[in-house]
Formats: sequence, C-alpha cells, structure tokens
Amino acid sequence: MEQINLKNRKKMKNLLFVAFGVFLLLSIRIGVIQFINGNELKKMAYEQQIQHRSINPKRGTIYDLTGEYILAESSTAYTVTVNPTNILSEDKEKVAKKLTELFNLDYETVIKKVKKISSIETIVKKIDKEQADILRKWLIENNINTGINIDEDSKRYYPYSNLASQVIGFCGGDNQGIDGVEAKYDNILAGTKGAITKATNALGAELGTEGENYIAPIDGKSLVLSIDMTIQSIAEKYLEEACIDNSCTDGGNIVIMNPKNGNILAMATYPSYNLNEPYTINNEEMRNNWENIEQKEKTKALQAMWRNKAISDTYEPGSVFKLITASASLEEGITDTDKAGEFCCTGSITVAGARIKCWRYYRPHGSESLREGLMNSCNPVFIGLGQKLGVETYFKYLNKFGLLSKTGVSLPRRSK
Ligand SMILES: [Zn+2]
Repeated sequence: MEQINLKNRKKMKNLLFVAFGVFLLLSIRIGVIQFINGNELKKMAYEQQIQHRSINPKRGTIYDLTGEYILAESSTAYTVTVNPTNILSEDKEKVAKKLTELFNLDYETVIKKVKKISSIETIVKKIDKEQADILRKWLIENNINTGINIDEDSKRYYPYSNLASQVIGFCGGDNQGIDGVEAKYDNILAGTKGAITKATNALGAELGTEGENYIAPIDGKSLVLSIDMTIQSIAEKYLEEACIDNSCTDGGNIVIMNPKNGNILAMATYPSYNLNEPYTINNEEMRNNWENIEQKEKTKALQAMWRNKAISDTYEPGSVFKLITASASLEEGITDTDKAGEFCCTGSITVAGARIKCWRYYRPHGSESLREGLMNSCNPVFIGLGQKLGVETYFKYLNKFGLLSKTGVSLPRRSK
C-alpha cells in the first residue's frame, strides 16, 4: 500500500512538472505572438479584412489657342489589381494562368504577385474595355468573386502624335506628367485620386454594401495653350524642310511670338517625336539597334529627344541681332532708313586692332543705305552703328528689348 502511494505521488509530481512546463511554453508563445509578431499580424488581419484601392481621376484636356484642337486628352481605360489574401488558394494558379494569357504577361511574375502576402498588387494598367470585359466574363464563369479588381482608369492620348511634342510633353504609367506642359501643369491637369475601401470577412468575401466606403475622384482641369495648332503645323513643316535641305545635324527650332503680347504661337523643334510612344527613339538607325545599346546611352538619347531645345539650349543670335542694333540706332537718330551712300562696305572693318570681315569680303557691298545694309546683312554697317551708339546706350536698349530679363516661358527646362 505504502509503496503504491509513493509511486502515485511521484507520478503526480511528474505530471505537475509536465503541466507546468507546457503552461510555461504556451505563455511564452502567447507572449511572442502578442508582443513580437503582434503588429505584423494586425497588419495581415487588416489586409485580409479591408480592401483599399485608389481610383484614378480623369486628367484634364490640353487645347490649342483657338480651343478647336485637342492636343492631349484622356480616354477611359482599366487597371487590373489583385488582393492576394482574398483569392482562394485553390484558385491562385488558375487566376495567374488566365491573367498571363489574357494580357500577354510573364507567368512567374504574375504568380508571385498572386501568392504574395500583400494587400494589393497591380497586374496590368491601361487595358481597353474589350479586354476588361473578357476578364469580367471569365471571373463570373469561374465563380471568382473576390480578390480581383477591374477599376476604371484613364489613358493619355495625343491626337496629333508628333505635333509640338517637346512643348506638350507626356505622362508616365500613373498618369503623372513627365515632361513639357504635362509636367509643368501637372497639379492642374492631374486631379485628385478617389478610393474604394471595403470590409471583408475572414475568408475575404465582401460584406455587402455595409462597411463600404467610396470616395469619388476629382477630375483634373483643362488647359488652353498660347500655341496655335495651325501656325505650329506650318512652322514644323518648314522647319523640317529647312533642316533636311541644309543637313542640320543638330536639328533646329522655330519660335513664333505674337509681337503685341509676347504669347508664343508656335514653338517647333526638329526632330520631333511621337507623344503616344515617348520611349521609342526617333532616330531610325538607333531604333533598329536599340536592344544592343547600353541603358545609360538609351536614357541619354531619350532625354536628348525630349529636350525642348528652344528653351533649354543656348544659341548665338548672330545676324538676327542686327535688327536690335538698327532699331536702337534709328531711335537714337544716328541713322536714317534710306540715306543713299550712308555706309560703305570695303569687305572688312578694324575694331581695336582686329580686322573683322564682312561675310561678303571677297566682293564688298560698297556704298549702301541702312535698308540695303540690312538686306545685305552687311557686317561693317552694324559694327559701325554699334560703335556710334556706344556701350552704355547699346546696353540701355538691350534692357529695353527685355533681353536682360527672363522670358517667363512656363515650361520646364531640361539641361543637357
Ligand atoms: Zn558688306
């Protein structure tokens, strides 16, 4: 009897030890879950229970001066996203396969996104309605009700492709302005994103309209440029012709201003590029060899193509400046427009001991009036006038013509 009791006592003691041990381990485990993994788990629960998707607003339209021509507009497109935690495990592979096939994607990338522990993953952006409808139909047929979202988005379109490309600029994948007017006025054009927030149960199924919150996006505002589409087209046509005829390897620019108010009616850059495909290089030779070019070189080439040289590059005005000298001299009364024989070109003029040639030094212009001097673009005439004006007076006119102040052109400048 005594022996049995002792045995039982020992057993009970052991049992107590084991029970205490288990209790201790469980306490530690609870502690780990609560205090170490707590935040992570809370986040996962939130992701499982709450779906949050942003809704893109429609970007504003860009019009030309007349308001008749649309230079940039947004059309409806769709974005497909997934909430991986809300797709049933047994459906994941099937869904990934369908998305891959439908949108011509890489299966490995898609399956990774579908299986990821994450609240939302973007599968494809800017698909058209037809593709969106095919996916919707397939989802219904396969009884997949949660975890895949087809949301309205917008796609930027430039009806005149290459027209005023370096002025207008283009947008990125998230409809954000990357260059030109699109970048400069992004805050006006972009609008404000909306959102859909939905509560779901533990299995990821939506809880009806209860707990659903919809914040409508606010569409962007439209812009009217000072660019006149007709004048811009004409400027581009003749610029292209002139650049080709004269083999201008570095391209060219034309800026046409309204002299009354300084509004820029046209700003043409040659060569231009297609705004609907801003990442396709406009140089045929480079385009054919694109895959073999290093990334750094590609970036450099694209940035050079996008650059609005009319505002980003410096240019020595040369003979164009003769108009400034002529105007200042007329205003100061030191010359007349048509006084025969006022000037005499001998093919060169000496300034501070340096001989400066007329462009037609081999057959000097001889006797000429100011009007003839301008027609001949004769260098000695204007060097002489400049000397007569003197530095201070000349400077005063440069200032009056606004040549010493900033242009105020509201476009982003891209450095070389
Ligand atoms: Zn001359």
